[in-house]
Amino acid sequence: MAEGLKWMQCPVCKESIYWEVPKDELKKVKRFPVPVVVKHKDHYLICYLDSHHQLADTEVAIVGVEGKSEK
Ligand SMILES: [Zn+2]
Repeated sequence: MAEGLKWMQCPVCKESIYWEVPKDELKKVKRFPVPVVVKHKDHYLICYLDSHHQLADTEVAIVGVEGKSEK
């Protein structure tokens, strides 16, 4: 697995997803855990990363995702 890539099971559709840790963004972060929004298909997940870039918690973002189209 490439460095900085995270694996998790999507809590919405139960599929495996890989997503990249935004390391440059995390360098600017002073407080942890920090929420990182991960888009998966038509839904969004909020992954909380701690200061070691480990996954601390995951939330499903429900609000305002319907009807959103890919760029
Ligand atoms: Zn999903």
